[in-house]
Amino acid sequence: MSHTIAPVLGEATVQELREAVRGEIVTPSDDGYAEACRVWNAAHDGHRPALVVRCGGAADVIAAVGFARGNGLPIAVRGGGHSVAGFSTCDDGIVIDLSPMHSVRVDPGARRATVGGGAVWADVDHETQAHGLGTTGGLISTTGVAGYTLGGGIGWTMRRFGLACDNLVGADVVLADGRLVHASETENADLLWGLRGGGGNFGIVTQFEFSLHPLGPVVYGGPIFYPADAAGDLLRLFRDWAPHAPDEITAVVNLTSAPPLPVIPEQWHGKKVAALVAVATGPGDEGEELVRPFRRVAEPIADVLGPMPYQVIQTLLDPLWPKGVHAYFKATNLRTLDDELIERLCRVHLAAPGPQAELHVHQMGGAVGRVAEGATAFAERSMPFVLNAAAAWQDPDATTAHREWARTAIEDARDASTGRAYVNYLGDADAARSSYGAETYARLVSLKDEYDPTNVFRLNQNIAPSDTDA
Ligand SMILES: Cc1cc2nc3c(=O)[nH]c(=O)nc-3n(C[C@H](O)[C@H](O)[C@H](O)COP(=O)(O)OP(=O)(O)OC[C@H]3O[C@@H](n4cnc5c(N)ncnc54)[C@H](O)[C@@H]3O)c2cc1C
Repeated sequence: MSHTIAPVLGEATVQELREAVRGEIVTPSDDGYAEACRVWNAAHDGHRPALVVRCGGAADVIAAVGFARGNGLPIAVRGGGHSVAGFSTCDDGIVIDLSPMHSVRVDPGARRATVGGGAVWADVDHETQAHGLGTTGGLISTTGVAGYTLGGGIGWTMRRFGLACDNLVGADVVLADGRLVHASETENADLLWGLRGGGGNFGIVTQFEFSLHPLGPVVYGGPIFYPADAAGDLLRLFRDWAPHAPDEITAVVNLTSAPPLPVIPEQWHGKKVAALVAVATGPGDEGEELVRPFRRVAEPIADVLGPMPYQVIQTLLDPLWPKGVHAYFKATNLRTLDDELIERLCRVHLAAPGPQAELHVHQMGGAVGRVAEGATAFAERSMPFVLNAAAAWQDPDATTAHREWARTAIEDARDASTGRAYVNYLGDADAARSSYGAETYARLVSLKDEYDPTNVFRLNQNIAPSDTDA
């Protein structure tokens, strides 16, 4: 590995930034550079930024943006580093890493949490659950609050409390020109609209403010695993059950392979299986009652759905998605889950190239669907299901097979698709225009023109400003 700083930067120039920030600056000549460069998705490791700035606070973010602009460096912004498309790293540019800014403060009386721009969901759940409160967060606790919320935020409580972006009530944002502004319903409301689904296009969020709700500490949640040949019956039941389910439950069907967990009989490990994963947050025995039909659809291989602390369900799947795997996701919003699509999904499942090539069918609706289309930048509200072909693998030689498999899965679903997609579930860049739909995209472009007309923040599902040379 060579140890050069990008040619545009001399050590004296970097020294100016070292003196201007409280946080740490890591360049290729510093120990720890390789670790500072690492992102969650190993498929995007190997990029060589000129420097990584680990920000200690908003002032460091302002200094880093100014430094990048002054030196003509591309900017990659990193929250939790989970971008599947690899947006939080770059070559010869600056990574503005907010991970040291992960503090969470809860105001139990106001039911509000202020959350640092580099926090992950484990940080939020830990602090909020101490008060019996919570808000919609990711299915994996190491996912960053920032990228997740700014893209929308699908989670176990979304049908009851809304998406993460629906619970975002305020944000401190460093703009492309270095100004720090606040966005809320009463201040820069247009910016808040864009932060609720429009990704990192408009600035760097240094602090989020979320509304909280009474939640847990115990919910009724977890997976039931079935043999793969039950996948069709499971999906048909799921389709018919989902529209009548109350907001208190959110479920996913996952066509996958059995992970090597002690709760699953060993002879099933690595074999193709179908799973229902559900979380019910309502009172008493409601959860058990709601999932009763799924206990009759086929003989389960393992049934781990039951009372469980909310913080446990929030971390239950973490070991299956560790930092350092190669990953690729491709997704589409579904207007229907008809028999034809179900058959196709079953076929694609059986053709999966590895044990972690998974088809996730998310149940949408509830509070997500009651927010008016266009009220936030989140692409679409009315779809009953979201399909995500999520693949992870260890061997770099398996990359093409997994990517092609995920693309085929989504291509095969095109007749049932609304034509739009959730941007956070897309492993390819340049997908914004088609994902948001024409009306929302046009509004996002106007906002981009206002807040970032020269496209300083372009490493994201990019909303290109009207001046296309920008
Ligand atoms: C294992 C795994 C599980 C996932 N589970 C879910 C899930 O349950 N539900 C769901 O909806 N999504 C899920 N996702 C997708 C996830 O929402 C996106 O990958 C999201 O972008 C991750 O956010 P991050 O902050 O960790 O990512 P990063 O890679 O740090 O950033 C992602 C994007 O956000 C921008 N960004 C980051 N921080 C900031 C900031 N402070 N201000 C402005 N822009 C910023 C970055 O520039 C980049 O464009 C999952 C992804 C993975 C890899």
